[in-house]
This record gives sequence, C-alpha cells and structure tokens, in this order.
Amino acid sequence: MAYKTINPYTNELVKEYPGATGQQVEDALQRGHELYHTFKTQAIKERAKLLHQVAAKIRERSDELARTCTIDMGKLLAEAKSEVELCAIIVDYFADHAEEMLKPEEIETMANGKAQIHHQATGVIMMVEPWNFPYYQIIRVFAPNFMVGNPMILKHASNTPSSAQLMADVIEDAGVPKGSLTNLFLNYDQVSEIIADPRVQGVALTGSERGGASVAKMAGEHLKKTTLELGGMDPFIVMEDANMDEVTEIAWRSRLYNAGQECTSSKRFIVMEKVYDEFVEKLKDNFSKVKPGDPLDSETTIAPMNSKKAKEELQKQVDDAISAGAKVVYGNKPINLPGQFFMPTILTDIDRDNPAHTAEMFGPVAVVYKVSTEEEAIDLANDSSYGLGGIVFAGDGDHGTEIAAKIETGMVFVNNFRYSLPELPFGGVKRSGYGREMSHIGLMAFVNDKLILKA
Ligand code: NDP
Repeated sequence: MAYKTINPYTNELVKEYPGATGQQVEDALQRGHELYHTFKTQAIKERAKLLHQVAAKIRERSDELARTCTIDMGKLLAEAKSEVELCAIIVDYFADHAEEMLKPEEIETMANGKAQIHHQATGVIMMVEPWNFPYYQIIRVFAPNFMVGNPMILKHASNTPSSAQLMADVIEDAGVPKGSLTNLFLNYDQVSEIIADPRVQGVALTGSERGGASVAKMAGEHLKKTTLELGGMDPFIVMEDANMDEVTEIAWRSRLYNAGQECTSSKRFIVMEKVYDEFVEKLKDNFSKVKPGDPLDSETTIAPMNSKKAKEELQKQVDDAISAGAKVVYGNKPINLPGQFFMPTILTDIDRDNPAHTAEMFGPVAVVYKVSTEEEAIDLANDSSYGLGGIVFAGDGDHGTEIAAKIETGMVFVNNFRYSLPELPFGGVKRSGYGREMSHIGLMAFVNDKLILKA
C-alpha cells in the first residue's frame, strides 16, 4: 500500500512514505501495552498536565500543521487553521473535564453493601481514520483515550500521510510518553494482525461503510469492541415560516465547507413548496459567488477535491443522477484550473429511484427536494439508509425541535449551523455507524465500567 502526499491543487507528488515493517508493528504493540500498565498506576492529573502541553504545542505549530494539511488533501488554508484550533480546544477540554467524568459512580442497590462503578482503561486501541479532517479525526479519539489511559496505534488514510505523521510528531514533541499514539503506515493485513493481537482491546474507525464493515468484521471475529463513524446523507429541512436569510446563508456553507467532503455536510435540502423557488434562487446565487483557486491563497473560497479519483467518482454519480432524470439547475461544468476542482452543483427533480436519492455524494453537490407538508418532509428525511445528522429551520424554534425529534439521526441542529465541539456527542444510527465520539459518551467508549460491591 502506497502512502503518498499528492498535492490536489498542483497534482505534484510531494512525498512518499515507506510502509511499516513487522518490527515497527511489534514495537508499537509492546510499547503501548507496557504504557497501559504504567498509566494504571499514574495519577490522572499527570496526563491532564501532559494533554494541556499537547494543546499548547498544537497552537505553537499551528501554521505548519495547517499548511501541511492543505498540501496533503487540498482544503482551504483558513479551514485547515480552524481545524487545528478545534483540535487544541478538544485537547484542552478533555484535560480539564475527564478526571471529573471518570470519577467512580455510586449506585443504589438492593444488595448488601455499597456499589460503585469504576471507569478504567482497557488497553491499546487501534484507530483507523480518513483524510477529510486529518487532524480532528485523530484528536477526537486521542484526547479522551489518553485521559482514560488507553495507548493508541494509528492507521491513517493513505493519501494524508504527511498530516498523520506531523500530528503524531507534535503530540510526542509536547512530552507525552512514547507509545501513547504511534502512527504507522500500515497495510490492511497489518491492521488485521493488530486487531487480532490480545494486547489490543478496541477499534475506532471513521470512514466509509465498506471500510467500516470490513474492519468491524475483523474486530468481531476477535471479540474486540468497535465504534464506527461512517457516511451520511444529512437532511436540511426548510419550513415555510423559516427565516430565509439565515437559511440561505447557512445552507451554502453547510454544503460547500471542506469542498463538500464532510460526513455531516447537508446533502439533501428538503424545502416546503411555498419557499422552494426563493431557496433555489438564493442557493444558486451563493454557489455562484465561490471562487476556486490555490487553497493556500486567502482569496480562494472553494477548494479542490482531495484526489483525482474522488473527483471522477463524483462526476460519475452526477452523470448517473442526470441519466435517471435529475435536472441541473446550477453547475456541473468543468473548471479550467489544474487542481481537482468540481464546480458546485445543484440538482433537483430527484425521484426516489434515482441513485442520487440513496448514495452519498462526497463533494460539492446539493440535491434539493420540494415538499408540500411537514409529514412529507419528515418521511423524506427518514427515507435514507444513513442516520448521521441534520438541520431543521422553522420560524418557531420549539416547532423545529419537535420536527428534529422525529428525524432518525444521531444529531439534529435547529435554526443553527451544525457544530462539532468536544462537549457534544458525535455519531449516528443506521448505516452511519454506532457509538459516539467526543463528550462524556465518547470518553467512555473504551473503558471498563467495573462494578465493585463492598459489603
Ligand atoms: P475509507 O473507508 O475508504 O477510508 C477510511 C480509512 O479506513 C482509511 O484510513 C482507509 O485506509 C481505511 N480502510 C478502509 N478499508 C480498510 C480495511 N479493509 N482495512 C483497514 N483499513 C481500511 O473512507 P474514505 O476515504 O472514502 O472516507 C470518506 C468516507 O468517510 C465517507 O463515506 C464519509 O462520509 C465518511 N466519514 C465519516 C465521518 C463521521 O464522523 N461519521 C467523518 C468523515 C468521513 P486507506 O486510505 O489506506 O484505504
């Protein structure tokens, strides 16, 4: 398996990394395992102190981190900087709050004695992460598990090796013990071997359904716990009394952020007929204002996609949608620049048997539906094999919350942009995966909730 940084703006091969050796795999496992035992006897405050040092180091090296990410996978430099700052925020949050969250809990019992649940570390965790937010994906597993006392081995995407290695180096440079997070350029067979190893106790994966299913299958064979954060087809519902200025401002950003390559991007806009024409016109207007160009240039507002392959796959999906009856109301034209650009595109007239109705489009393509009742909007929103997130806009926020409660996803935002913050649980249902990352729930993903009952 080739780990390569190919700049998606210039198409130039920047760096290639050799695959991990068997000895490197064994060293990472053994070091992680020994560290797990060391962490068991260490006061959690020690790790909180180290984690604050990690946040400081991330901030100190933020320019280098942001630039490396932009060259690795093409995102706008401003977005890369926000991602780096979010990482520092997540790290500080778990350093500040994990000790309190991990405190033993007393439970009332009919048994003779005092019952407590102790939240304890379980061992080395394997993490498998994607390229789209190369740092954030690492940090949202690393920060909580480091506080718990679970060392980690990282297998990152083969197209963002420079970001993976740099973040691992920054973490080590901050002074955490070697083996707390080991980045290895692993092939799939080596990932299987690591999952099978008795020193490993869990697997956290963010990625596609295909990748998630195959890693979860391996983990299941070896009785290892998994969390899966997979794809999404998030609905964005617009009721007729919604504030249309707010709606349109948030709608285009929610689709085009990170060139649309986000699991929680708003991918399906479900709009009440009374405001449908206005919505489509304003979305077109906003899409037409974005400026493609060098993602390192602050004037650029739409980034290239992460790879040639990703762009070609998206083009095929759009072509198939059009063959099945979709109308292009904006976009779908070539962009005359060397990078892997895809013109922001709006598709309408999608029937339920159109492939665009069911398959996730991981790029800057919005699908807009017209509906005439609230029930129809909810039914359409739930007519998906995915269940990650969603947005509801309604004039009355409480009514928006009632609609949100009926949407079958793990997260819904009402009259708001979608957020990912350390205190908010992140994850989905249905084919979007299971388990949560971040928040007190994510912190507990790989702990042993041990009962101790003392007479
Ligand atoms: P992939 O599943 O192809 O890749 C994700 C990671 O899994 C990569 O590191 C990849 O390695 C690895 N991987 C894939 N298959 C295996 C396997 N059989 N054994 C071991 N490792 C494996 O996902 P994409 O790159 O296509 O990422 C985009 C997808 O991720 C989208 O569907 C998106 O919605 C989803 N996603 C979900 C998020 C969430 O939080 N729910 C957030 C971001 C993205 P390699 O690169 O070497 O193939």
